[in-house]
Amino acid sequence: MTDCLFCKIVNREIPAALIHEDDQLVAFRDINPQAPTHVLIVPRRHIATLNDLGADADGIVGTIVRRAAAIARDEGFAEAGYRTVFNCNADGGQTVFHIHLHLLGGRPLTWPPG
Ligand code: AMP
Ligand code: ZN
Repeated sequence: MTDCLFCKIVNREIPAALIHEDDQLVAFRDINPQAPTHVLIVPRRHIATLNDLGADADGIVGTIVRRAAAIARDEGFAEAGYRTVFNCNADGGQTVFHIHLHLLGGRPLTWPPG
């Protein structure tokens, strides 16, 4: 999608601090981190919100979640714990309409979120 921030990062049209990429997804550091590690994991394919997921996306969603666990291990906080979040639409706090999994770790996180 031409007017999508995360499509532009996926296509290397705008810079980001990439930490992983493969044929299905890209992971990069959040520009406004809310924890010592705050990474966003996005599919290469544009999907606007969780509400737009079809059964054909089951594979990529599983791959994104497993990549979050792998990055948590690489960053050294897998055993201590971490949080993964998909925000959806206005009440969920979604601001970029290309699905992305937030991975937050490196400090104790409170619950519930605001
Ligand atoms: P959400 O509010 O769930 O849609 O999350 C969007 C996230 O994208 C926020 O945490 C922003 O800080 C982050 N973000 C916005 N622009 C950029 C960018 N250019 N590079 C990296 N992260 C970004
Ligand atoms: Zn997009």
